[in-house]
Amino acid sequence: MDEKEIWSKAKEELAQTVPTYKMWIEPLEAVSFDGNILTLITAHALAPQAIKSQHNTKILEALKHSAGQDISYNIIFDEEFAERYRREKKKELQKTKNTDNSDKMLDNLAQMQSSANLNLKYKFSNFVVGENNRFAHAAALAVAQSPAKKYNPLFIYGASGLGKTHLMQAIGHYIVFNKPKLKVKYIKTEEYYNEYIKNLQTGGNDKTNRMDKFRQKYRNVDVLLIDDIQFIESKTRTMEEIFHTFDSLHNNNKQIVITSDRLPKDIPTLPDRLRTRFEMGLMVDIMPPEFETRVAILKNLAQNANVKTDQDVLEYIAENFINNVRELEGAFNKVSAYADIEKSDLTLAFAKRVLNCESRKSEISIEDVAKSAGEYFGVTVNDFKSSARNQRVSSARHIAVYLSREITGRSFESIAEYFNKKHTTMLYSYDKIKNDLKVNKKLENTVSEIKRMINHV
Ligand code: ADP
Ligand code: MG
Repeated sequence: MDEKEIWSKAKEELAQTVPTYKMWIEPLEAVSFDGNILTLITAHALAPQAIKSQHNTKILEALKHSAGQDISYNIIFDEEFAERYRREKKKELQKTKNTDNSDKMLDNLAQMQSSANLNLKYKFSNFVVGENNRFAHAAALAVAQSPAKKYNPLFIYGASGLGKTHLMQAIGHYIVFNKPKLKVKYIKTEEYYNEYIKNLQTGGNDKTNRMDKFRQKYRNVDVLLIDDIQFIESKTRTMEEIFHTFDSLHNNNKQIVITSDRLPKDIPTLPDRLRTRFEMGLMVDIMPPEFETRVAILKNLAQNANVKTDQDVLEYIAENFINNVRELEGAFNKVSAYADIEKSDLTLAFAKRVLNCESRKSEISIEDVAKSAGEYFGVTVNDFKSSARNQRVSSARHIAVYLSREITGRSFESIAEYFNKKHTTMLYSYDKIKNDLKVNKKLENTVSEIKRMINHV
């Protein structure tokens, strides 16, 4: 079930059980469901607290019935949603005064946002900027402010869970909100593929018509956001279709934004003519966030969800979930949901109890990583620290450096100090493995095997 289904079913029950339903519950909008936690947004700044303190039990009950299992929920106050709400209310008022024009005036943002296929959770205002994403963020903002003028296409790449979809949709929201005349469309490549294939395979007299309609839907826009393009790998016909859509848009000076988990040149089956097109604008990457940015992201989450907690809790989570913002967020949602259900304060001890079993990254040192990597390759820690350059030691060292950074989250300076090398050498090793991993399955297995060894020391 997705968030909309769960919430609309739960609402039916809440309409019966909560007397102030119309005021508090009805205006909430469901924006995400991650298997455990439903996120709702409100246009009313006081609602998160008011609703949780008055209707918590009833909401949990209704959600349980609707989802068929115990799930938790967050209510987040959302500025943009509030603004939209105010505008709609105002329009409604005008509408009743001036019924003749009512239809013309119904160009409401809500409709535009949903026809653009955007999720209100992803906006610039809740995207935390750090060294890892500074450039990508600046480029995205520039594109949002002047679509089709600056970087076209904008190609955002980086590993999973680092904020590509978030940034891309933030561009969409910005444009819908600030340039309502422009038509925006967001599409996941996988959904685009499914839709295309479905149209292609269904027969009937109106097939040509249908294909035309499908094409128009994506060519008749001012801003097209294509998420996770790496999915088209080896889907030749879809590539062909995207190719023509790309050209049609680009030639008409329309903005295209693309995300991918890797660079175009690292999608081996991508034909040159598509690759060169993807590369002709600006390509920006997003890296895993540093410690400081992770703490800032958590702080932002806590604030938006109105969760009271201390700095040491946020730092504990940030130390333990280092690779991926999605997991970082998941850990935070988990502790806050547990605290909520158990009616406990979110203290460090509480967070440790809830999360401890999942991770002990902060306790692992660079030395632990180096030892396990050394053991795997039959190389000693002293070899790593020496200036030995033979193939076996160097390639083992690259991996040890990469894992040191990934697993301990320590700075490149500390890692350089341990390996007795220059800071830039460490950066080189890290990037090398990071990039190789995107195309080298065997390397991926090696890295997972060493990770397993480290976790079982
Ligand atoms: P990707 O598309 O790269 O796999 P997402 O955009 O889906 O990643 O991000 C995963 C989760 O992390 C989302 O909930 C997103 O809101 C959050 N997130 C990622 N980066 C940031 C950031 N810099 N600030 C705030 N939230 C972030
Ligand atoms: Mg994504």
